[in-house]
Amino acid sequence: MSVCIDRCPRCGRRVVRVRERRIGNRVYLYAVHYEGSRKRECYLGPKDRYEYVSRLHERENLALRGLVDKFRAIQYLESLASFLAETDDVELLSEALPVLRQATFCVERKIRGKGRRD
Ligand SMILES: [Zn+2]
Repeated sequence: MSVCIDRCPRCGRRVVRVRERRIGNRVYLYAVHYEGSRKRECYLGPKDRYEYVSRLHERENLALRGLVDKFRAIQYLESLASFLAETDDVELLSEALPVLRQATFCVERKIRGKGRRD
């Protein structure tokens, strides 16, 4: 899978291309910019997931992903929904419920506002 983005999520400049750099068995992504003839690169994160940071979120089964993954929020939501479905911690669930309701309300309102019918 090649990555193609127009704007750099770190600095906002136009991206000429995304460069992959392999280090060991991991692949990391860099946004390439040019300021005149001078090349600049911004680090975009791993091509798949952040290993170390993800290990710190194993309880929630969160695999944190790089900046150019457009759908990473959906994967985070799926992981957190699965975590909440499996927990018996009523205090945690009580805190989560209004957050989930508010998010659902906002998402439905935005989709309806765009003229989609379900
Ligand atoms: Zn940049």
